[in-house]
Amino acid sequence: MTQQRMVNRREFVKGAGTTIVGAAALSAMPRSVRAQRPSPVRKRRAIIPYKPDVLVVGGGPAGIGAALGAASKGAETLLIENHGFFGGVASWCLGMPINQMRPGSKPRSKVHELIIEKLLAYGDQAVRIGDHQLWCNVDYLKVAVLDALDEVGCKYLVHTQAVDAVVEGKRVVGVVVATKRGLTTIRAKAVVDCTGDGDVAFFSGAETMKEVGSLSPITLCLGVANVDRAQVRKVNIGDMARKARKKYPLIPPGWGLGRISNGHSFYINHAGTRDLGQFDATDPVERTKAECLSRRQVLQMVQAMREFGGEELKDIELIGTGTQIGVRETRRVKGPYVLTEKDAITGRKFDDVIAWRSGFLDIGFVRLSKMNIHDVPYRSILPERIDGLLVAGRCISATHVAASAGKSMGNCVATGHAAGLAAAMSAKKNCLPRELNISDLQDALRSDGVDLARGGESQDYLTNRG
Ligand SMILES: Cc1cc2nc3c(=O)[nH]c(=O)nc-3n(C[C@H](O)[C@H](O)[C@H](O)COP(=O)(O)OP(=O)(O)OC[C@H]3O[C@@H](n4cnc5c(N)ncnc54)[C@H](O)[C@@H]3O)c2cc1C
Repeated sequence: MTQQRMVNRREFVKGAGTTIVGAAALSAMPRSVRAQRPSPVRKRRAIIPYKPDVLVVGGGPAGIGAALGAASKGAETLLIENHGFFGGVASWCLGMPINQMRPGSKPRSKVHELIIEKLLAYGDQAVRIGDHQLWCNVDYLKVAVLDALDEVGCKYLVHTQAVDAVVEGKRVVGVVVATKRGLTTIRAKAVVDCTGDGDVAFFSGAETMKEVGSLSPITLCLGVANVDRAQVRKVNIGDMARKARKKYPLIPPGWGLGRISNGHSFYINHAGTRDLGQFDATDPVERTKAECLSRRQVLQMVQAMREFGGEELKDIELIGTGTQIGVRETRRVKGPYVLTEKDAITGRKFDDVIAWRSGFLDIGFVRLSKMNIHDVPYRSILPERIDGLLVAGRCISATHVAASAGKSMGNCVATGHAAGLAAAMSAKKNCLPRELNISDLQDALRSDGVDLARGGESQDYLTNRG
């Protein structure tokens, strides 16, 4: 049975029987090593030359939306990212569709449109546009995002990981980051947690929820080439996988090959670890197991296609795997309102709407259900008891099932956009995000082209997951 566990960092640290700084480890070091140890965090703030009003942590779809939203509102904005590029799952899943960017081919906001405009500027190689989604060549996406950030004057740092939160009273005033020059702090008037895993919220002691035992599968996506599109369609990959599984036991029961932008290579998204065990990607040991298992799985998938895929697939070549495993679900931050499955299915509207979510309720390769477009209330992007912090993307306040209803990347950009605007406005007014006048935020979103009246719409035009 699913076990829903609420965890906050203070309990976690207490449970681990350790201190955050690791004093015991320090005193066990030989004196020579200790002498070379870099000076404490607070003495090295100057490493980062920026003093942002708004700090966005995590540069996936939500973080990009937040950074573009905040910076285009005039706030000094800094976006930091753990990897060497932006895009999050959109970049490391190698070309899969960025869904719900223009539902029904209708523009969603000026932030969504800016990303599309920058991609289109690179032509056919960069992107293919569907009736709600974009299929990108991810290397163009990575640069298109930089172009968009530059245009709105957003500062950014890559290879910069948030490893702790700076909390005064119950207000987040910054984060501790790990850089190549060691640990340092970045302070800001408002912080937006777009880490997907709710890292900053967790570090700050905010309450988070995790579906222990039923977490969605983890998938390492792969890119393949040297196959013909028409030939690929003739292969029944399910039948092929059934035959190949005896020899290659890690492979999933089936998968599809999707074309990367307008090119001649393919991405493969698949059920990943679904049949191989439960892995919590915020646990270092389990994350390592999932990452390493997934890398073996990918090689088995390619071997299976080459050996069991007949004439059509016998020459298929692996051209690459994601930078890391694609994590669908970990922590969700508990806000004053927790979105539910019923809200998604019925298309619920809220007075404090700041975004809406469209597409499918989709627990990757476990469940796919139709839903209506539904509102996200402001109360779902604020942690319940911690101030100075907003959250966006896949870790907003929602149940396990409701979280899956909003995970399409266009929806994550939308909650990011709202959180970024709210952070910029609260920084300007010198108030807490929680104290912001909701009508002012809604007006700002409308003037950015967001139609806040779409909650409740049915999506009869959705016939497949396309
Ligand atoms: C395998 C897979 C397939 C999917 N298929 C689709 C699909 O076809 N279409 C679709 O629209 N959606 C799909 N999704 C869902 C979608 O990709 C995610 O819901 C979405 O990317 C979440 O956006 P996010 O910005 O919240 O988080 P993420 O995309 O996870 O981005 C988080 C970013 O924060 C960075 N980060 C994390 N922790 C830190 C830290 N402590 N400090 C600094 N940076 C940090 C990460 O490196 C990353 O760049 C899929 C997801 C997965 C995993």
